[in-house]
Amino acid sequence: MSLGAAMTDRLHIPLKVNKAYREARNARKKAYAPYSKFKVGAAVIGRKIFSGCNIENASFGATYCAERTAIVKAVSSGEKSFSDIVIVTNKASTPPCGLCLQSMAEFCRGDSRIWLGNEKKITRAYLLSELLTHPFGPNQLLK
Ligand SMILES: [Zn+2]
Repeated sequence: MSLGAAMTDRLHIPLKVNKAYREARNARKKAYAPYSKFKVGAAVIGRKIFSGCNIENASFGATYCAERTAIVKAVSSGEKSFSDIVIVTNKASTPPCGLCLQSMAEFCRGDSRIWLGNEKKITRAYLLSELLTHPFGPNQLLK
């Protein structure tokens, strides 16, 4: 299954994804981005929805992306498996950074969906396996 470009024109967006989109959009309003001014909201869908925003730091390496903030909130609340992640920025579609993709690989499956959108709507959807083709995972740590 591939969502990629073929789905862009006719995205079927499930109700739970629309709900997560609204939560990601609201989380974006809370972004702390005084340096880049690039505000991001994200929401992950497990049994419940958890949202997060990017939180920058004057020591740039200490910055949290919105996606990882949402994942940290979810995992620290007991959720460890996500079917969908929604990311909202001011652009039509901003893919997650490599660090966030690696975090997603820990708690998502290859067929988990990554939905990208702006303040108006969801514009694209990808499978995690399309964005991270050869993830480093628990299997690499097995003896
Ligand atoms: Zn990131």
